Amino acid sequence: MSETNQQQTFTGGCLCGNIRYTVTGNPIAPLVCSCAHCKKLSGGPMTAWVGFLLQGFSWDGPGGEPTWFATWPGVNRGFCPQCGARICALDDGASAVFVTIMSLDDHSVVVPEVQRFPEDAVSWLPQVPVGDRATAV
Ligand SMILES: [Zn+2]
Ligand SMILES: [Zn+2]
Repeated sequence: MSETNQQQTFTGGCLCGNIRYTVTGNPIAPLVCSCAHCKKLSGGPMTAWVGFLLQGFSWDGPGGEPTWFATWPGVNRGFCPQCGARICALDDGASAVFVTIMSLDDHSVVVPEVQRFPEDAVSWLPQVPVGDRATAV
């Protein structure tokens, strides 16, 4: 019984339901990021992300794909054009998409293991405990 035979299906989407996704696969590198872009785009002190391979991923809401905004050339962030919710990050040519953990219908099933850009984190929240993968991200 290999790990690939135990893949789970996750669903998620934006606040208004226009953008929806379904993904079957294993969560990759769940993390929170306190970089300048994650703070400005979310309006919050950090954004929580989790990756999934694109091969198991599909957009299945009435709005289809999210609207894209490139924060750097080739670095695309997807959001709902109706409600503005941040949904995902997808680099040109990448094999995996990162969705915001809070866009998952059940976000309790994914726990961030790393805090990226901790030097840019706000001083009034504790940092995410660093897990085993901290040195690999
Ligand atoms: Zn929406
Ligand atoms: Zn970031």
